[in-house]
Parts: sequence; C-alpha cells; structure tokens
Amino acid sequence: MRSKSSLAFPLLFAALLSLQNVAAAGKVLILDYHSFLGTSSSLDWTPEDFGAQLDRMRALGYKLVPLEDAMSGAIEGNDNIAITIDDGNHSVWKAAESVLLPKAVPTELFIYPAVIGHESHFLTREQLVTLVKQGFVVGSHGYHHMPMSALAWRHDRKTVTMEVTKPADLLQYILGSRPTFFAYPYGVVGPEAHDLVHKEGYEWAFLANEKFVFVDPADPALDHWAVPRTIVYHWNKAALFHFLEKNAPPKS
Ligand SMILES: [Zn+2]
Repeated sequence: MRSKSSLAFPLLFAALLSLQNVAAAGKVLILDYHSFLGTSSSLDWTPEDFGAQLDRMRALGYKLVPLEDAMSGAIEGNDNIAITIDDGNHSVWKAAESVLLPKAVPTELFIYPAVIGHESHFLTREQLVTLVKQGFVVGSHGYHHMPMSALAWRHDRKTVTMEVTKPADLLQYILGSRPTFFAYPYGVVGPEAHDLVHKEGYEWAFLANEKFVFVDPADPALDHWAVPRTIVYHWNKAALFHFLEKNAPPKS
C-alpha cells in the first residue's frame, strides 16, 4: 500500500508543471484591420502601408502569431501580435497576395457571411475558400453585421439572436469547417448577446476598440467572450507604434 507522502510527490510535481505551463504561455496584442483600398477612410490602408506596418512590428522584435495559437496558449513571451481583418472586403484578396502571403503573416478573417457571394465589394465564395486553403482562418462576425449591444437587444432581440446563431452554419457550408471564434460587429456586445455567443459554442469572442491591451489568455480573470482587440486607424497608428516601441523585447 502506498503511503500518503509517496502520492504527494507526483501530485506536487504535476502541480508545479501546470504552474510552469501557465507561466510559460505568452501574451498577445490582437490588431484589427479592415480594408486595403488606399482611400481616405481612417480604417483603410494601401497594401504598401499595411506591409510596412507589419515589417516594422517584426523589426521591433515582435512575433506575428496565429490568433488560434495565441488563445490556445501555444505562444511564449510578451512580444506577440496577432493580425485579424474584419468584414471580408474584396481588397483583402489583394492584400493577401501582395502582403500577407509573401510575408507569411498568419491572419484570422472575421466574416459576416450574408454578403459573401452577393455583394461585389466583398470577397467571393471562391476567394474565401482559396484563402482558407492558403492558411487563413475564418471566424464569425455576425450574419448581417448588425449591432449586438444591450440597446440593440432591447430593440430587436430576434435580429441579435440571428447574428449569433446563423453565421456558423453558412460558414461551415462554404468552408467545410465550423468557426470557433466570434468577433462582435462594431466591436461591442451586451450581456445577453455575450451569453448567447457562449451558449452557441464559440470558444472565444472578441471586442474591438482603439485601446492597446496585451491579452493573457491564461489569465483566470479574462472573460473568454469579451477579449479586447485594437482597431488600427490612421489616427491611432502613431500611438500604436509608440506603445509597441515602449513594450518591445530587449534587443539581444
Ligand atoms: Zn465589422
């Protein structure tokens, strides 16, 4: 018969190992881009400017990591950036070809599938399928891109519910796999829609605003259905890079 103390050692060892795993998991800044048309919109970039931003992040010592790896704890250090692009604008195709694929930048695309194949300024189904084959990961971004705030819920809970329940089936139909990440349209969610997204089976759901926040996915205080992301605008780009320089890993 084993004594209590001989059992205690393996248990202690396992506990220490799991602590070490938590400590080893890294933090990530999740950036949110939109389109690459070169217009005067504050959310829009030329592919060249976008590419230069990504180069600058890497030159500062940051790793551009897949969002899925970041959230599953498969990253290390506090120098990780995950790139996400919302809405599926047709210019994502050119940005993928000219910037993201040549630079091997892992990217999550958040798509509201009602427009795919129906409106000309969005990616086509074929393009979306090709992008996934090339390694892009697709998450849900609502169905019609309707607000999911507490106010929206009070006005029209049926529409908000559809934003939660409809995109996964259609994305699965188009792409063959079911999305597990959700990004709230307009970056905002109310408590009711937040709970619905959780119940719908999404593993993580993302807010979006102008603030710079390193996310620690292992933090027990982190709400898995309210993870912060940073929208990159023309007006906060300088502040973003100032923040990145301040937090950059020391040069070895
Ligand atoms: Zn959006």
